[in-house]
Amino acid sequence: MASRARDIIDPQPGFVPADADALNARFASVDSAAMLCELLSNGALGTPLGRVAVVSSFGTESAVLLHLVAQANRNVPVVFVDTLKMFAETMAYRETLIEQLGFTDSSIVAPHAAVLQAKDGTGLRWSWDPDGCCDIRKVEPLRRAKQGLDSWVSGRKAFQSSTRQNLPRFEIEDGRLKINPLGDWTKDDLEAYFAAHDLPRHPLEAKGYLSVGCEPCTSTVAPGEDPRAGRWRGWDKTECGIHSSGDSASAPSGENGGELPPGYEPVF
Ligand code: SF4
Repeated sequence: MASRARDIIDPQPGFVPADADALNARFASVDSAAMLCELLSNGALGTPLGRVAVVSSFGTESAVLLHLVAQANRNVPVVFVDTLKMFAETMAYRETLIEQLGFTDSSIVAPHAAVLQAKDGTGLRWSWDPDGCCDIRKVEPLRRAKQGLDSWVSGRKAFQSSTRQNLPRFEIEDGRLKINPLGDWTKDDLEAYFAAHDLPRHPLEAKGYLSVGCEPCTSTVAPGEDPRAGRWRGWDKTECGIHSSGDSASAPSGENGGELPPGYEPVF
């Protein structure tokens, strides 16, 4: 009897840096909308990105990426990390965009109550250890959400800060493919897209909040100031850590675990 050919099932798409390089080359001159349509179209074998989701902060610029993804495939899951320190306006804006853009699969991931109790029992960790606070409230929940994903779509843009320069459209992070469709977009590009598609604005933008994160760590921005200057104002901190590889969130920074430093008197 002739031997039968065996089917080989690869359980993981297993994206590697060469895949990111190939995708960067392939889509080099393709605009973001066409690129996402091709990547997120749901054929018989699913999307070429495997298990994919878009992660959104529902900030002041988020509507652009969400609109682009919705045009490609409204069934792509939309993940939001609720740090439990969000503005009420952000929560309302999330509902508005999800409904208006017609997404069918939206979810919220939040920090574990037990972790908060152990590491941020006062709820004031942001005031003395913002890196540790971001670790337990943002990075760890997102790490959990990404565990079942092969790839994810991010809204990062190169112009937002010096730490985001030379942002590729495709990169590998912790073994997953990360797509930055807006990586090379300018502020003017975003504004033009908002106008062309009549997208709703974040309710706080008109009040001077040009970049919106958690309520305790976000302030208004003066005319002419860097839009992200209102984030962690007064701290030498520009990123929350969710765009760093390593998934190190299980060990919050700071020397005192969940305790306030000796002699610290919170005034908030
Ligand atoms: S932005 Fe502020 S409140 Fe939000 S997780 Fe980071 S430190 Fe905590």
